[in-house]
Amino acid sequence: MTTDKTILINGLWEAGADAGLPVIDPATEAEFAVVPSASHDQVSRAVEAAAAAQPAWAALEPWRRADALRAMRACLLKHQQELAELVSREVGKPLRKAREDVENAGIYLEYMAQWDRRIEGEIVPADNRNETILLNRVPIGVVAAITAWNYPLDLFIRKAAPALISGNTLVVKPTEVTPLATIRAIQLITDENCLPPGVLNLVTGGGAVGAALTSHPLVNMITMTGHRDTGKKIMAAAAANLSRVSLELGGSAPAIIWKDADLDLAADAIAFASFENTGQVCTSSERILVHEDVHDAFVARLVERAERLRVGSPSDDLDLGPLVNRVQFQKVTAAIDLAQAEGAELHCGGYGLPSLPGRGYWVRPTVMTGVTPKMSLFNQETFGPIAPIIRVSRYDEAIRHANATRYGLTAFVFSNDYRLVMRAQDELRFGEIFINRTMGEALQGFHTGHMESGMGGEDGKHGVLKYTQLRAVYHSYA
Ligand code: NAD
Repeated sequence: MTTDKTILINGLWEAGADAGLPVIDPATEAEFAVVPSASHDQVSRAVEAAAAAQPAWAALEPWRRADALRAMRACLLKHQQELAELVSREVGKPLRKAREDVENAGIYLEYMAQWDRRIEGEIVPADNRNETILLNRVPIGVVAAITAWNYPLDLFIRKAAPALISGNTLVVKPTEVTPLATIRAIQLITDENCLPPGVLNLVTGGGAVGAALTSHPLVNMITMTGHRDTGKKIMAAAAANLSRVSLELGGSAPAIIWKDADLDLAADAIAFASFENTGQVCTSSERILVHEDVHDAFVARLVERAERLRVGSPSDDLDLGPLVNRVQFQKVTAAIDLAQAEGAELHCGGYGLPSLPGRGYWVRPTVMTGVTPKMSLFNQETFGPIAPIIRVSRYDEAIRHANATRYGLTAFVFSNDYRLVMRAQDELRFGEIFINRTMGEALQGFHTGHMESGMGGEDGKHGVLKYTQLRAVYHSYA
């Protein structure tokens, strides 16, 4: 694909302003594209174009905006293979999973298109006779959408679809680590005239471009998926202009496996939550608290499932690919080494791939036992295919360890004891709790982080309404 068209302003393509940032194939460590970054002036003009296009977009009949989302869906699906190959190569995920990502983006667009006739206001009783009070839902204006690298296309659509259906215009800044599928998707959407000029604008680059975008005074809302520390910087930038923020940040999901749990069900689900996308999911199970009575039986089941997963080149379409880049690789391998030095036991996995020696960021599905809350593995978001097992004996101990984090995104509980499950649901301090299953989320649910996992949330009714604000209108006809 061409990378001389990565900046889209008011429907016209421009080249980026510098020599660019490399995109690395994580399976080979080879550079396979260079994406130039937007200048400050380009960022400003992209925001101005979005602001100029917004009133007409908001004035369009909602069903016409839904038609535009359906046109985007058709466009992405028509080019599914090309987009999937880009996602697969830049993220390092097996091709069929990348094809699923494109399909999911299409499903998301269709779901959000169906909100066209459902964004409703309210009528409130008035104090005065012959008066009516209306609470109308209106768009927020210009939305800056900033994405992370693990599901690049899905994260772009998860923000763009609800923002657009509710009448906002957008400036998108994809992650610099895996920007290609998003750039290509926007090139195709533009070629096929799915949206009026200025409604969807694109700027490429890293943190500096993100900072320029989030501090622009015409940006009314920032929606970002990424690291907690970046979320804090964005909130500080937003404060200067009182822009709204919606932040989907990291997590450190605990999973409680109780003594009465269905161990096969739990092992299948935890294997998925620990290793899917090579552990690079914000809802990955990062701390697995297992009751001592079933500890060994559960570990044996999990190890068996981990060893069954096939790791290899994304083009071979196995189960897992490499980690996304060297930074991630160094972080995850250091976490495994340090945990062993601190006394944890490695049951399977580790790093490197004997079949592909010498290149690629390979970490195999790794199960570690003997992990304690004092260890660094317990206390950080590793974002790799590691399942750390902590042995517990009492319910209150399990809840205390589960809640021992500043993150508050996701928690999992496996038990058939109704009272225990209900208590856990009340006492776990997380935005999203799964009982007897793990990820992923439903379109109509609400993916939301508490505490340092962010604010705002995505999907469903609340994921659409956050892109609107209420306007009170008093009608007197006395
Ligand atoms: P990151 O924070 O490094 O980058 C995210 C985006 O922010 C990138 O586009 C980056 O260029 C941009 N950015 C960096 N500095 C900026 C600044 N000062 N101002 C504005 N933008 C800036 O995150 P990442 O490494 O790409 O993603 C991994 C993180 O994302 C993990 O913590 C993971 O848990 C989280 N994540 C969360 C969810 C969720 O829904 N909660 C989903 C996926 C990933």
